[in-house]
Amino acid sequence: MNKQNIKNLSIKEISIIIEGLGEKRHRKTQLLKWLYQKRVKSFYDMTNIPLALREKFQKQFSISTLLPTEKTTFSEDGSRKIVLKCEDNLLIETVLMEFEKHQTICISSQIGCALGCTFCRTGKNGFLRDLRCDEILNQIIFFKDNYIPPRKRYNIVFMGMGEPFLNTDNLFRAIEILNHLDAFALREKRITVSTIGFPDKIIEAAESDLKFGLAVSLNATTDRIRKKIMPASKNINDTLFAAQKFAELKETRTTLEYVLLKDINDSDEDALRLAKLTSGRPFKINLIPFNAWDSCNFSRPGEDRINRFIELLLPRAPAVTVRRSRGEDIGAACGQLSYQKREITDKP
Ligand code: SF4
Repeated sequence: MNKQNIKNLSIKEISIIIEGLGEKRHRKTQLLKWLYQKRVKSFYDMTNIPLALREKFQKQFSISTLLPTEKTTFSEDGSRKIVLKCEDNLLIETVLMEFEKHQTICISSQIGCALGCTFCRTGKNGFLRDLRCDEILNQIIFFKDNYIPPRKRYNIVFMGMGEPFLNTDNLFRAIEILNHLDAFALREKRITVSTIGFPDKIIEAAESDLKFGLAVSLNATTDRIRKKIMPASKNINDTLFAAQKFAELKETRTTLEYVLLKDINDSDEDALRLAKLTSGRPFKINLIPFNAWDSCNFSRPGEDRINRFIELLLPRAPAVTVRRSRGEDIGAACGQLSYQKREITDKP
């Protein structure tokens, strides 16, 4: 019998299984804590669960993990890029960023990406497959096991490989577990999902009970330029309408990410249009000077141009921040992650 991977089950599905086994409800709490707080790799380690029940779990379910593959790459700014291996030998790139008071884990939702944004290295390499819920959660478990001290604050950003809103079944399952008090207990301020913005998916998330922050990659102020650099993007008005609805229903602000590309979207007119599109709306603008990668056709605007853009935008738009990406020297900054197709034969 093929065992079911227990980390792919939703909270409701776990409840149904516990009930079906004739067990009391608190077994669900125990199971979640063992899986996601103590992060055990075997049902036999769940010592406050009766042995007979552990054996039933063992017969029916498996507990998956991800393994590191190659040496960790360190950046001068302290970021680490780590490549993890799935059961089918495909590779996931993840990044751990160090800040004074917290750590941030940048994780992936797909292997590769089908959307082909022209400034993005992940998009250039194409798409292999969606990550399952357990593979999303196991990225975080890997970091908690190896790099995050027990009481250290950490945030999660879905800004690695892939478009999370094209894998919403697994994404939403994973976020439910991340939110749950008996599992990771992470609330909205600690999880950010970055998307190019599919309005229907944004509204679905807004109307759900899931708790996370939303970042929409806007990157242009006209539909013509946006389509040119992000061929799969929807029109700006619909995207911003959905982003606003998300902010209103979740009582927060949606972040709009804007990668500054030299001579593409960095003009004075762009800055003024961006201010007009966002003025008086529940948004935060995050400007990200482009990080160049091998053979890309774009470059980063000079510091004078970046400063002029900010100068025009600041007094007219809602909150504006500039993100100087981390891990640029190791190919771990925004838009630089890329899966490797080759099979791994070396032992981790
Ligand atoms: S920017 Fe995001 S959506 Fe666009 S190709 Fe890259 S990973 Fe995919």
